[in-house]
Amino acid sequence: MITAAAAAATCTTASSDGDLWDKPEKLFFIYIAKSDEWQKRQQEDWEYVSSMVRFYHWWARRFFDYEISVEADILPVIPGKLFDRMSLGYLLRDHEERGKDTYHFYLANFKPFWTDCQADGYAADNFGMIHWKRPKEQVGETARNTFFADENCPKVSHMLAHEILRQNGKKKKEYFEKVHELWQQHKEKKKPFLYFDSQFKRTNVAGTYRFVTLDATEL
Ligand SMILES: [Zn+2]
Repeated sequence: MITAAAAAATCTTASSDGDLWDKPEKLFFIYIAKSDEWQKRQQEDWEYVSSMVRFYHWWARRFFDYEISVEADILPVIPGKLFDRMSLGYLLRDHEERGKDTYHFYLANFKPFWTDCQADGYAADNFGMIHWKRPKEQVGETARNTFFADENCPKVSHMLAHEILRQNGKKKKEYFEKVHELWQQHKEKKKPFLYFDSQFKRTNVAGTYRFVTLDATEL
């Protein structure tokens, strides 16, 4: 079912000595692509994804004092029969098979059938996923990257916030409810997201931005 991984990006940090009992060894982003599409996806999405992975390595340290090695890879998947269809269950099994000591974060080509999270994704212990959306029409690289920054990047920050706060020892009220309260403010009360350029410098929606996150200073 799973064929060879194709491309990889790595951000390594000098490992800390595991001060928290459940801190994973690394954070591993996995981009899901259908096997007949992965080369095109790699061409079109991978540069953004690998830069976003480097950004979140920095972001986790900057806003949560969370230090971890980060890697990313593309996972080409052969669309299977009915029971092999891509699903949250499939990703949870994949996470288990790869090893639950690693924090796996899936950028999936579908949204979970059921979730208690507001952001088209799902978070659990050492596990995260979002529905990685793509522009419906063929667009140029700049428009595509802006689409990823607006649509996908904030959701990644949402899922990471759930799990990083939990691993940092926060109670559910903080790692779950508080993130959702903040998210609602962003989505419904027009509270601005935080915007960053390609050098991870703060900018705004009117500037040239590459990454967009929830306002982690409020968490
Ligand atoms: Zn959520």
